[in-house]
Amino acid sequence: MPERVIGNICKEMSENMRVCSFCKQEQQEVLTKEHVFPNFLYKKYPDYKFGFNGGTGKHTFSMDQVKDVCKNCNNVILSNLDNYVKQLCDKYFGKFIFNEPVEFQYDYHLLLRWILKVSYNAARAYKTPYHEFERYLPYIMGQQDKPQPFTLLLGNVMKTSEYNGELFTPNIFAASYLFPLNGERGPDLFRMVYIRSYAFIVMGWTEDVNVFERQRQLDNYIKQFGASVIDEQKNFYLFNPSQSKFDYLAYRSLQTKIDPRRRITKDELNYFTSKHNKLREIPYIE
Ligand SMILES: [Zn+2]
Repeated sequence: MPERVIGNICKEMSENMRVCSFCKQEQQEVLTKEHVFPNFLYKKYPDYKFGFNGGTGKHTFSMDQVKDVCKNCNNVILSNLDNYVKQLCDKYFGKFIFNEPVEFQYDYHLLLRWILKVSYNAARAYKTPYHEFERYLPYIMGQQDKPQPFTLLLGNVMKTSEYNGELFTPNIFAASYLFPLNGERGPDLFRMVYIRSYAFIVMGWTEDVNVFERQRQLDNYIKQFGASVIDEQKNFYLFNPSQSKFDYLAYRSLQTKIDPRRRITKDELNYFTSKHNKLREIPYIE
């Protein structure tokens, strides 16, 4: 075979052979698209496609996707996690939490693996760093135990806000990275996923941060935001709005302060409103 032809075949193969971001296997087949948030959420809440991509600094009106997942990971392993969370969605996320606490029953590992999966998808889709997820991949895939002993899942209520006499329910779902408090060296993995009133926070430490420092930061975090640890040994957690210091509009304002690109322009708002007439502007509190 002429060298040029072999060269072309090799080129074609390397273009088609992609590595799946979850199983890390080279794939002959074209990799599949996976939504950052599963499709069932968009179907259930069709108003929610309006979002912000922190990586590009642009507001979006589409369901964010990644295109680097093999068929088996997407349709079997990750789908199983989505199916579990769909049940949680039907049972809990559909309703907002106002004044009454909600006893939330969970399967710890299915829940945490899903939170990690969504966070990892978001990090890749929004082009923010994601190397910290590498050591969690076997756990997400259900092939290994949770990296021990420094991974914590916290829960919190995203409280409904009142502004000019109007109530603003946290009508959104999102995945974001968090900053350590006071500019100190925080957890290696520090992410939040929230679905309407329900906020989940993952803290993952590496071994070189000592136990006292980890505990100190966790205590600070709990004190400042009113979050608490979701117990791995239990199967229920109390989402308690009176304990939470997480207020929806205040949180959105804080995000805008940290990243002013989030502030939506009139043109953008007009464009989004023309695409969906139910959309309304979210006020930012200074
Ligand atoms: Zn795969």
